[in-house]
Amino acid sequence: MWDERVTGYDFGPGHPMDPVRLVLTRDLVRAFGLDPALRLVAAPPAGESTLRLVHDADYVAAVRKASQEPASVAAAYSAYASYGLGTEDNPVFPGMHEVSALIAGQSVAAAEAVWRGDVAHAVNFAGGLHHAMPGSAAGFCVYNDAALAVARLLELGVERVAYVDVDVHHGDGVQTAFWDDPRVLTISLHEHPSSLFPHTGWPQETGGPAAEGGAVNVALPPGTGDAGWLRAFHSVVPELLSAFRPQVLVSQHGADTHVEDPLAHLAVTLDAQRMVAEACHALAHEHAQGRWVALGGGGYAVTDVVPRAWTHLVAIAAGAPLAPEAAVPEEWRHEVYARTRRPAPLRMTDGREPRWTGFEEAGYDPADRLDQAVLATRRAVFPLHGLLP
Ligand SMILES: [Zn+2]
Repeated sequence: MWDERVTGYDFGPGHPMDPVRLVLTRDLVRAFGLDPALRLVAAPPAGESTLRLVHDADYVAAVRKASQEPASVAAAYSAYASYGLGTEDNPVFPGMHEVSALIAGQSVAAAEAVWRGDVAHAVNFAGGLHHAMPGSAAGFCVYNDAALAVARLLELGVERVAYVDVDVHHGDGVQTAFWDDPRVLTISLHEHPSSLFPHTGWPQETGGPAAEGGAVNVALPPGTGDAGWLRAFHSVVPELLSAFRPQVLVSQHGADTHVEDPLAHLAVTLDAQRMVAEACHALAHEHAQGRWVALGGGGYAVTDVVPRAWTHLVAIAAGAPLAPEAAVPEEWRHEVYARTRRPAPLRMTDGREPRWTGFEEAGYDPADRLDQAVLATRRAVFPLHGLLP
C-alpha cells in the first residue's frame, strides 16, 4: 500500500517521527527493483463510518477541527489535551485528519484485499499506529490503523483475527480496542512497562471477562538482544496461534527494538528483525491460510534502521526476500546523503547471524531475567488456551 501523500504525516521539525523514514523506505524498495514483484495500491482514506469502528465521534470531530484550524488549539489547550492533541508527543498540524485517515485507509484496504483473496499478503509500512486510543491520540498516533484493519475484518465476518505486535512499545491501543472481544487475540512483545512508554503491557493484562487470554503481553528486560528476543517470540507466539487458529494474521513491525534506536533500550539487530518478519510470514501460512497483513510502526533510527527493516518486510511479503549480505544500492545511498547529510548503511545486514533456542528444546533457566519474563506470560495466559505453561 503506498500513496505518496502519507509522507504528510509530519509533526514538524525535531519530532522523532520524521516522515523521511517512509520516503527512504519507499525508495529503497524501488532501488532494489522490487516493484515488479508487487501490486502497488493507493487506497482511499478511511471515511467517518470506518473510523467509527474504533474511534469515538467526539474524538474524530476534535481531530477534524484541530486539523482545519491548528491555531485554535493553543487557545483551547486543555480541551484538546484531553484528546491527546496539541501535546508534545502529538502536536497538531494542518491536514492531520486527512493524512491520518489516509494511512488508516491503506491498512483497512490491505485487510480487505487479503480477506477477499486478491492478494495473500499486504504491507502498509506507513501504518502500525498502535497507540491511538478510541477517544484520544497517544504516542505519535492519531488514528489506530491497526485496530481499524482488525475491526474491518470483524465487520466482514471474520471470526478470529490474531494481532502480533513486535514494536518495542506495548501495543496498548489495539489491546484496548479488543480487550473484551473473544474474536481477537492480541500479542505484544515489548520493553518492560517499568522502563518505557506507555507503561502498560504487564503479563497480568490478559483480556476482559468475555475474552480471558485474549490479550497477551511479554514484558522484556531492557537490554534484551537478538537471542533473547527471538527466544521470547518463539516461546510464546507459535503455540498461541496454533491454539487460537486465526483466519487472518495482522502483524505490526515497529523497528524501534533496534540497538541504535534513540527512544528505547532493547539491543536487537536488523538481522533478528528480518527473522521475525520471516517468522510472521511462515506463521500466516501455517495458521491463517497465508492471509497476512503486515504494518510498520515505530522506529526512530530513520536512515540506518527503518528503511532496511521494512524493505526486508516488503520483500518477504512479495515472495522475493533479499539476502542479508545484499549490498545497498548506490543510488539510494546517494539519496540518503542528499536528504539527511548522513552516511547510509552499506549492506542489508548488521553482520549478525542470530541463534536462539526455544523453551521446547532447551527448557528454561528460572534465574534468567528473560526466561522469567517469558514464563510470566506463559503462566498468565497459556492455561486459558489449554496450553501447558
Ligand atoms: Zn514503538
